[in-house]
Amino acid sequence: MFKKVLIANRGEIACRVIRACRELGIKTVAIHSEVDRESMHVKLADQTVCVGQASASESYLNIPSIIAAAEIKGADAIHPGYGFLAENAYFAEVCEACGLKFIGPSKESIEQMGDKITAIELMKKSGIPVVPGSDGPVNADDPKIFAIAKKIGYPVIIKATAGGGGKGMRIVVSEETLQNAIITAQTEAKAAFGNSDVYMEKYIEEPHHIEFQVLGDKYGKIVYLPERDCSIQRRHQKLVEESPSPLINVALRKKIGKAARNAAVAVKYVTVGTIEFLVDKKGHFYFMEMNTRIQVEHPVTEMVTGIDLVKEQIKLAAGEKLSITSEKVKILGHVIECRINAEDPDRDFTPSPGKINKLFLPGGPGIRLDTHVYCGYTIPPFYDSLIAKVLAFGKDRDEAITKMQRALREVEIEGIKNTSSLLSKIMVNENFQKGSVSTDFLSKYIFGR
Ligand code: ADP
Repeated sequence: MFKKVLIANRGEIACRVIRACRELGIKTVAIHSEVDRESMHVKLADQTVCVGQASASESYLNIPSIIAAAEIKGADAIHPGYGFLAENAYFAEVCEACGLKFIGPSKESIEQMGDKITAIELMKKSGIPVVPGSDGPVNADDPKIFAIAKKIGYPVIIKATAGGGGKGMRIVVSEETLQNAIITAQTEAKAAFGNSDVYMEKYIEEPHHIEFQVLGDKYGKIVYLPERDCSIQRRHQKLVEESPSPLINVALRKKIGKAARNAAVAVKYVTVGTIEFLVDKKGHFYFMEMNTRIQVEHPVTEMVTGIDLVKEQIKLAAGEKLSITSEKVKILGHVIECRINAEDPDRDFTPSPGKINKLFLPGGPGIRLDTHVYCGYTIPPFYDSLIAKVLAFGKDRDEAITKMQRALREVEIEGIKNTSSLLSKIMVNENFQKGSVSTDFLSKYIFGR
């Protein structure tokens, strides 16, 4: 097992990893930017290193500084968290070349799954259903795009091959707007990922976003865990997640779970990852992408199965054998997670950084809270806007909803705008309560557009 792990991240996920390391008896090194000196992860770690200025490119994405910090402090492994360098194949390669274990999959797995067009091709070869699409990049000045879109059938969606965080996507309902949509998606993709490649696929109407957590060891064993339903989204980004999904029955769980397992087998996956699918009302499912890292919503699965995924991830990276089997994993109840973001839901979710003047976060039976903020903390404008994840566990979905409603009523945050009142509205919405939670839920039932 590792002796000392450097966490190349910040925020709640850095705190989460530090806690897992501590329980495993591993020392921790936190890195931070100049504006993050007062951050919770810096307070929790055994050792700390300032790696650069506020902007992520100078600190949390600064590979030479991060590697130097690990060497100076004598770390033997690096945990990348999510975001920043977590899905950067070059970083994984540099870590390994410097004798530091990258707590994640191989550079090859990251590369194969990081480019969506490559991933879709690979999944097709492995017999996993994918969304009908352009089978490669598209360009606005190529006359063939109209025939491709017609064959797929409108509406279609233009997506960035290097995509993430819902960026670089455009829905197109008819051929008049196809060329413009490709151009704007390419511009957005170039700005966000430095890669302007986009592709086209069928826009699946009113789908559920269903994802399966997978775990793999270096001896080739791969298992899948029960699904998470992440259909409640804003701007194609998740806001509420739950497990099990109201849409999925035992047979469908097994069917999609096996496809998820095959997807991970195809890239010889090691450690923890997630296979994302779109599932329509009839139960047809389509591979969307794989995230080769721990995800924001991993605690949903932890609570519903009782498995500590971050500890498993660290143990698997250290070369331990996987002791879990999919058949033996039990669904212990129902779990809902709500993301409290420092954003203004009334102004299209614009970020709302600033000082938290008053803070009360919920607790009590069945509630888990993952956060890095405290009263008096100033949320810097440079990083993502997630400030807390509230999770509720119930014996069934109704009980989990009741507990979440109660928990959200306890939330008091002053000084910044945040999503907690919107989350409360979702929890009392009768369509949510009935389990009608497709990806257009917010626009249809909350914002009414
Ligand atoms: P990202 O990597 O940016 O998160 P994803 O491919 O995971 O992008 O898609 C994010 C969300 O966008 C999905 O959860 C879904 O709501 C929507 N989406 C993506 N592709 C499609 C599609 N073909 N049809 C309908 N919705 C889609």
